[in-house]
Amino acid sequence: MQATITVLPGDGIGVEVMAIAVALLKDVAALGGHTFTFQEALFGGCAIDAAGDPFPSETRQLCENCHAILLGAVGGPKWSDPSAEVRPEQGLLRLRQHFGLFANLRPVRAYPMLARHAPLRAELLEGVDMLFVRELTGGAYFGPRQEQGDGDSAYDTILYTVPEVQRVARVAFRAAQGRRKHLTSVDKANVLASSRLWRRTVEQVAAEFPDVRADHALVDSFAMQLIRTPARFDVIVTENMFGDILTDEAAILAGSLGMLPSASLGEGTFGVYEPIHGSAPDIAGKGIANPTGAILSAALLLRHSLGLHQEAAALELAVQRALEAGARTADIAEPDAPALSSAEFGERVRAALRQLG
Ligand code: NAD
Repeated sequence: MQATITVLPGDGIGVEVMAIAVALLKDVAALGGHTFTFQEALFGGCAIDAAGDPFPSETRQLCENCHAILLGAVGGPKWSDPSAEVRPEQGLLRLRQHFGLFANLRPVRAYPMLARHAPLRAELLEGVDMLFVRELTGGAYFGPRQEQGDGDSAYDTILYTVPEVQRVARVAFRAAQGRRKHLTSVDKANVLASSRLWRRTVEQVAAEFPDVRADHALVDSFAMQLIRTPARFDVIVTENMFGDILTDEAAILAGSLGMLPSASLGEGTFGVYEPIHGSAPDIAGKGIANPTGAILSAALLLRHSLGLHQEAAALELAVQRALEAGARTADIAEPDAPALSSAEFGERVRAALRQLG
């Protein structure tokens, strides 16, 4: 197949991990006889420096003319003044809004060989393999808001419509159909009106998917269960702010922020794929960042935007094989064991991919 992929390396370690993810996508193309065209553009802090805008029109045009976007990370101390009018994160929100990317998929898997790096007992991590589907363009982050008077009160509004809940619920139910057919919807229906609408709507959508077992959990108790019995969850669907918080909590199950990928999807096959970590200024430029989240994001791109399911699975398996063979970047290495650089780790995954054929 032929596909055009826009690469937005962004800032800090975003640039370093993207180089490795792109190298692997080129390998996938060569092995499978596909033609992938890569076009790179400025996004985030580097775009503010160059064009005064984190999401310049030249970048937007390239993003509009491709099958999928692979994104590194944005931000850093240089642009971190919260009162600045132009900030790198505005680029992220505008990108999501521009393309109507309402569903954020975050698979969380605990690799047994990395269990020591998670702050939970290893036996609790056995079999942890879940997928969060977070609503991404509604709720408190996008609802009416105001600071009132002379700043002595303020409000944000959690606003959801039935169609907004329906569409993200359907994404989650369809994902569950391809997995263990279990969906947990997380809300706060005992207190919030928006959560009662959420629950009612998810229950209605559940009728369209009789093969999926659906249950509901209150966010406070779910936050506890996620740590107590993480292996019992399969697909979790939740609103924007709850998802923001819970997915960071879930990230610790994987042992390092550097391990986790994400996909932001809309109605069609187009999507933005990015590791969940930030630009990591404390390690940027050292060549030691863990590129796993970026590589697994490339695998999600192959699956969701290009429909290349076998290639996606092969890339995921190559990461697993490299880890099984002992490949470790510093964040997941044993305290006194030597760690690989990002590039060396990438080479180990490339070798594992070639072995899989
Ligand atoms: P961060 O994710 O950048 O880093 C948190 C910690 O995790 C750091 O110690 C870092 O070294 C480590 N870490 C992160 N990714 C790693 C990797 N791949 N390999 C090894 N270690 C890794 O979060 P932060 O420090 O809170 O934020 C730094 C900057 O990134 C800020 O400007 C923030 O706004 C931005 N940020 C951007 C995104 C995004 O682009 N989507 C997400 C989160 C944070």
